[in-house]
Amino acid sequence: MGRGLCPQRIPRTFHVKSFGCQMNVYDGERMAELLTAQGMTATAERDGADLVVLNTCHIREKATEKVYSDIGRLRRDDGSVPLIAVAGCVAQAEGEEIMARAPSVKVVVGPQAYHRLPEMVADAAAGKRGTETVMPAEAKFAALPKRRRSGPSAFLTVQEGCDKFCTYCVVPYTRGAEISRPFSDLVEEAKLLVAGGAREITLLGQNVNAWSGQDDKGRAIGLDGLIRTLAAEPDLARIRYTTSHPNDMSEGLIAAHGEIAKLMPFLHLPVQAGNDRVLKAMNRSHTVESYLKIIDRVRAARPDIALSGDFIVGFPGETEAEFQDTLDLVGQVRHAQAFSFKYSPRPGTPAATMPGQIAPEVMDERLKRLQEALVRDATAFNRASVGQRCDVLVERRGRHPGQWLGKSPWLQSVHFTGDVAIGDLVQVDLVEAGPNSLAGRLVD
Ligand code: SAM
Ligand code: SF4
Repeated sequence: MGRGLCPQRIPRTFHVKSFGCQMNVYDGERMAELLTAQGMTATAERDGADLVVLNTCHIREKATEKVYSDIGRLRRDDGSVPLIAVAGCVAQAEGEEIMARAPSVKVVVGPQAYHRLPEMVADAAAGKRGTETVMPAEAKFAALPKRRRSGPSAFLTVQEGCDKFCTYCVVPYTRGAEISRPFSDLVEEAKLLVAGGAREITLLGQNVNAWSGQDDKGRAIGLDGLIRTLAAEPDLARIRYTTSHPNDMSEGLIAAHGEIAKLMPFLHLPVQAGNDRVLKAMNRSHTVESYLKIIDRVRAARPDIALSGDFIVGFPGETEAEFQDTLDLVGQVRHAQAFSFKYSPRPGTPAATMPGQIAPEVMDERLKRLQEALVRDATAFNRASVGQRCDVLVERRGRHPGQWLGKSPWLQSVHFTGDVAIGDLVQVDLVEAGPNSLAGRLVD
């Protein structure tokens, strides 16, 4: 743990802004807990905060550029700047460049080293800029304060890093090798989250279904074993997990979807492309057929499961016919929701220097066609839910007076009115559907 902070010299207020994936959201929460434990107070807005932490994402180009423009925007009208710390994957990948390009940044800290943030902030306040990008994640988790408060839906990182080395992806370089956090630490953190107000926990990892560990009797278990243990927590109502890799989708985990009532009927299983040559060039180590077989088995275990995925269009060398194969796969799976991206060359990854880089206008056009198909399927999935009665976990107030927002078991956003409170699990009849949300009526 870092040494205590001197109140005369260090910032008194801070704001953490997280970009990118849910793992970054989790890391941002843990950084805020660290800074709070040092006596600092979080501000809702970054204007006026003494310390601003930009918790960055490096997965695509635009995200990196956004960080630099954000650094620029932190300059106040009088020319002063807060103490700026850059954390996350851009910090890991481009720490030196950030220090050289942005003198207003005083701290650069990678995703596996942020337990050192308070110490580095203290050094920066004393005039010493610092960069920390060491990799093993184990030390970080051991050094973080215990969790105290939680919203109704909480994230819990169980696995970090990736050994898969897809040829387009920076994650193995920015987050390091795959590690699984120990079972007992996770059970303890889950209990604390539940005691702090969580009714739903989403287990997180770059390849969350690669999690492995030993239970309290020393038996080797996988993610399904961890889910089974957490499901026994009486006040925990819902469990989710994300993101999964097709190759780590074990029989036990598939079966768990049919056996554990608290495991929600939702699976985010990225496929990236619907053509085997492209998948091989991506080093995905699964085929279209093996992916579709998994989907069939998951649907057999849990027929109402909502499927989600990630897609990349315009991978180097992708032909129009190969892109059509992706549209065909989408037509077969009928995802309930999905994320789709234009391929973004990432420095240092093998795909960045592959021949056959696709022109931006071709990528734009393919992305448009893919997204039309995905919106069609998401809308159809939501429309098919109309008429169903389901539990909704109330997460926050809506924009309109008396309106509440929550999630269905299938991770659909549901809005409704009624006499409820945040954290309630209420029964709602789904009455109207759009591509992104549903209207519900509270059951009396
Ligand atoms: N581990 C997960 C998997 O293998 O499916 C995905 C984790 S990654 C952080 C999230 C998504 O970002 C990927 O599924 C992929 O669709 C997308 N992505 C990663 N690198 C990309 C790149 N260079 N260009 C465009 N999209 C990318
Ligand atoms: Fe990136 Fe592939 Fe690892 Fe997912 S499996 S994090 S896409 S390298």
